[in-house]
Amino acid sequence: MVTSFNETDIAVIDAIYDQQKANYRQVGKTTARERIRKLKAFEKAILRFRVDLQEAMKKDFHKPAAEVDLTEIYPVLSEIRFAIKHLKDWMRPKKVPHPTPMIGSSSWVRYEPKGMSLIIAPWNYPMQLLFAPLVSAIAAGNVVMLKPSEFTSHTVEVMKQIIANCFEEHEIAIVEGGVEVSKALLAKKFHHIFFTGAPEIGKIIMATASKHLCSVTLELGGKSPTIIDETVNIKTIVSRVAWAKYVNAGQVCIAPDYVLIHESKKAEFIQHLCAQIQKQYGKDAIDSPDYLRIINQKHFLRLKGYLEKAVLGGAKVIYGGTMDETQNYIEPTIITDMSVDSDVLKHEIFGPILPILSYRDKEEVIDFVNRKEKPLALYIYSSNKKNINYFVENTTAGATCVNMSSVHVGNPNLPFGGVNNSGIGKSRGHYGFIEFTNERAMFKQRLPSAIELMTPPYTAFKQKL
Ligand code: NAD
Repeated sequence: MVTSFNETDIAVIDAIYDQQKANYRQVGKTTARERIRKLKAFEKAILRFRVDLQEAMKKDFHKPAAEVDLTEIYPVLSEIRFAIKHLKDWMRPKKVPHPTPMIGSSSWVRYEPKGMSLIIAPWNYPMQLLFAPLVSAIAAGNVVMLKPSEFTSHTVEVMKQIIANCFEEHEIAIVEGGVEVSKALLAKKFHHIFFTGAPEIGKIIMATASKHLCSVTLELGGKSPTIIDETVNIKTIVSRVAWAKYVNAGQVCIAPDYVLIHESKKAEFIQHLCAQIQKQYGKDAIDSPDYLRIINQKHFLRLKGYLEKAVLGGAKVIYGGTMDETQNYIEPTIITDMSVDSDVLKHEIFGPILPILSYRDKEEVIDFVNRKEKPLALYIYSSNKKNINYFVENTTAGATCVNMSSVHVGNPNLPFGGVNNSGIGKSRGHYGFIEFTNERAMFKQRLPSAIELMTPPYTAFKQKL
């Protein structure tokens, strides 16, 4: 159920904000040990509510329990465990060298929290995308207001219980509601806003944040290409593409949005991809307990429109294409022969439709990819080093996996994020900690100081220095 703005008392937002404002300096002074204690309590609460989370996400969009474990609970737990392991080191002031004329001084970086943070999350991974940045914010010593998506109400209900289980509202609080609630929160002066969502909304967030010169992390989306060259063993790689495309019914920011394959491999790839889809979800994916629904009617109709218009423009549906509006179901679908200006090639698909394009020369690939906005992820399948280097060096992306898709998000040692239209700033692990941290430059002068060499009068001797 979407909570309307009227139901969400603005006074409640004000009250929480004021309490957090009064509390954030205190929270900012907490030691690594205290923050680790909070992270452990958070971990425990998530585990306690594991089954409730699985049931809630089943109700919200038919997410299978195994996927809730694998793509929602596990990533947050591993983020917590990684932060616990490294927090003391992350918080420890780091001594840095200084130039010779600064003799007699010492310099170091002090890691202090930004203070009051706002985290706004989307619906596609309702827990992971709200709680993973929260781990970074807690590790960095912030107070946090959390605004989950309005489209996953069952999951939000459980997340509220988890938060209430281990935090006081004056430190961490969930504020439920839709766009109006988001806007009411954005009107407040935060020190950092961490937003995950669509690029168009990211622009609104950044513009609003600029009113307070509030720093932002924007985790956005876009069209992530998958390039498959002529040197690949199709049988080996097909499950890596199929899994990444159809997990969560394609409602994944780093899902392969479209495939660009060497023409000599296209027919073989399509044949194996169709077989792989059936292996994953059976002949009728609608009966599979492992296949999700589209989150709501609005997104169902958007995807339906993309497909229908593509077909009207000459595209061929090679696999799938069936739909059931009563349950927002869209079959895993493969299409070819789309016109270049079709919606499926212009907009982020964010659903289970995979357009496949073929190429002859590598230059065509670069030209196609680089005419679009910089992607959040770019995948390369090849066994030829020269080709891999060529594709990497002539493109840019938030991340690239070679001979794999999407799993980079699971390595907390890597930064996660986009470039320009696909995102600003990085998250996860140490990168996430830094996003919520002010790296304060510290300089201390001991005696003697060389300042006399810089002060007027600028004698002939000083000018020679
Ligand atoms: P969305 O941008 O519509 O909504 C995200 C959040 O912003 C929600 O909480 C929503 O209530 C709020 N919001 C929506 N409109 C707003 C407005 N005008 N002012 C203030 N707040 C507003 O995104 P979505 O549909 O929930 O998610 C899909 C998008 O998110 C896709 O583009 C996808 O690629 C992207 N995404 C990115 C990542 C990432 O890590 N980079 C992860 C998941 C999803």
